[in-house]
Amino acid sequence: MDCIFCEIAAGRAPASIVYQDDEVMAFMDIIPVLPGHLLIIPKAHYRNVFDAPPEITGKLMETAARLAPALRQATGCAGLNCHIANEAAAGQEVWHLHLHLLPRYPGDGFGFRFPSGYGRRASRPELDEMAERIRQALHALA
Ligand code: AMP
Ligand code: ZN
Repeated sequence: MDCIFCEIAAGRAPASIVYQDDEVMAFMDIIPVLPGHLLIIPKAHYRNVFDAPPEITGKLMETAARLAPALRQATGCAGLNCHIANEAAAGQEVWHLHLHLLPRYPGDGFGFRFPSGYGRRASRPELDEMAERIRQALHALA
């Protein structure tokens, strides 16, 4: 399998590594959206959150939380977004699970784009119905 993040995890492709242990590695994104843009990956190959054991995704977030203060100190960022793209519809382009740690700066120009019409408050029955569907799916998949 031809996976650039597996190559990085194995030390066979170059990366500017910030942190690693037996399970995860954090390195600089090669096309930083903003200064300090980091990626955190599991060393084992998983496609994304649909494929990875929850503990692995949890370890990515735990690592993000540990790195966040250092990233803020090093960059002087004012805020931080944590983001995982899962599947193409969500913007995934590299098919090895990764969490983006994205420092934010006042007026940096980056942002999430909301669909037109966004802003309508959902009714409680609508929310309850969706919550019920998800609860049923959780139960069915358990
Ligand atoms: P995504 O759209 O969430 O799949 O993002 C993939 C990210 O991986 C992008 O931000 C790329 O800039 C980054 N990327 C791709 N190849 C490399 C690489 N060799 N080293 C570091 N970052 C990379
Ligand atoms: Zn991989």
